[in-house]
Amino acid sequence: MMDRVLHEVEAARDELVDFAAELIRIPTVNPPGDLYRECAETIGQRLVEFGYDVDYVTAEGRPEHTAKHPRVNVVGIRPGRQPRPLVHLNGHFDVVPVGAGWTVDPFGGLVRDGRLYGRGSADMKAGLAAAMYAAEAIRRAGVELAGTIEVSGTVDEESGGFAGVAHLAEIGRISSDRTDHVIIPEPLDVDRICLGHRGVYWFKVTSHGRIGHGSMPFLGVNAIEQMGPVLEAVRTRLSPSLADTSTAMPVAPPAARRGTLNINAIVGGQAGEATQTPCVADHCEAIFDRRFLVEEGFETTREQIVQLLDEVAREDPKRRYELDDLMVVHPTLTPEDDPLVRSLSRSIEHVLDRAPEMIASPGTYDHKHVARIAGIPSCVAYGPGQLEQAHQPDEWCGIDDMVDSAKVMALTLLELLAEP
Ligand SMILES: [Zn+2]
Repeated sequence: MMDRVLHEVEAARDELVDFAAELIRIPTVNPPGDLYRECAETIGQRLVEFGYDVDYVTAEGRPEHTAKHPRVNVVGIRPGRQPRPLVHLNGHFDVVPVGAGWTVDPFGGLVRDGRLYGRGSADMKAGLAAAMYAAEAIRRAGVELAGTIEVSGTVDEESGGFAGVAHLAEIGRISSDRTDHVIIPEPLDVDRICLGHRGVYWFKVTSHGRIGHGSMPFLGVNAIEQMGPVLEAVRTRLSPSLADTSTAMPVAPPAARRGTLNINAIVGGQAGEATQTPCVADHCEAIFDRRFLVEEGFETTREQIVQLLDEVAREDPKRRYELDDLMVVHPTLTPEDDPLVRSLSRSIEHVLDRAPEMIASPGTYDHKHVARIAGIPSCVAYGPGQLEQAHQPDEWCGIDDMVDSAKVMALTLLELLAEP
C-alpha cells in the first residue's frame, strides 16, 4: 500500500509542479492582499477535482476584509469512513512584495535546472501544492482512509494571519473539537520538522518632553534626547543580559537559541510633518521587537522592560516614559513524542533514508493560532524549500524536494488515518 501511494506521488511530479507554478502566476502580494479570491478559487477548483467538499470562508468583521481586498480563505474536506481522526493540511497563499534584485520573472512560474522559481515558490505555494498532491496520491492509489483529510489555503500569514488561520480557528473550523493534527508545509526543508517557535513581544516606548523654541532649547525638554538613555541602557544592560539566556528549544539557526531584541523603528519631533519646525521635540517613539524564550515567559520579559524604564527615569526627574504593548505571541512547542511528530519522523526516514532534525523557528508563523486559539497541541511545520529562500529575490523551491515532501506527507497521512 505504501509503495502504491509513493508511486502515485512520483507519477504526479509534473502535475504538482504545474499546479504550484499556476499558483505562483497569481500575484497574491500582501500587503495589500491582491487576488486572494482568484487564488482561493484556483485551489478550490483543484480540491473539487480531487473529491473534496469545498467552502470559501471570508473574514467577515475584520477591518482588513474590504471590497477591494477581500480576505477569502478556502477549505476542503474529504471525509473518510469516520470524521476522526482528522488531519488538517494548511498553507498560506499570500506572498511578500517582490523587492529588488530579481533576474527572473517573479510571477512567471519558471522551471529551470530542477527548481521552480517565483515569489511564493518556497514560501509557500510549493508546500501547499505538495500537501494537496500527497493526499491525492492516496486517493489515486485506491486507498480508502478511515479518517478525514482537510486542506486549507489561507490569507495574511505574512501580516499575522488574523483573517486567515486565526479566523478559521475563531469560527471553529480549525478546532480541537474536530481537528486532531495540523501540518503547515512552510519551507523548513524536507528533512526537518519544526516543532514551534519563540515568543514575540513588540512594544513601544514613548518619551515625553516639553515643546519649546528651537533657539532656546534650555526652555523645553527634548524627548529625543531623553530617548538616548533608554537606547543606551538597552545596549549596555539589557542586550548583554540576553546574550546569557539560552533555551532547550532546538531553534535554528543556533545563534537564535537565546532571547533577542531589535529596535524596529524610531520617530521623534515634528519630522513627519510637511515642514520642519524650530521646536524642541516633545515626543519620541521607539518600537522594539523582543523575541523571548519559553524559559523566560512573557511576564518576566515585560517586567524587565518596566524595570529598565524605571531605572532610567529615576536618574533624571525630567525623564518621562510610557510603555505600550503592541503584540504578544507566546512561544509554542509540540513535544517530540507527539504522534504526528513520530509519524513524520518515520516517514522522513523511509523516504529520505536519514533521520530527521527537530528544529524550532526563530520567528513565528500560523502555528500560534492553531495552538492558542484552536487549542490543538499536535501541530508542526514541515514542507519543501529552504527557509533562507523565503522573501529573497530569485526565490526558488527544489522540485525533488517538493516530490519528496509530498511522499513524506502521504505516508504520514496513511499512518495517521488508515485503519488502526
Ligand atoms: Zn510562510
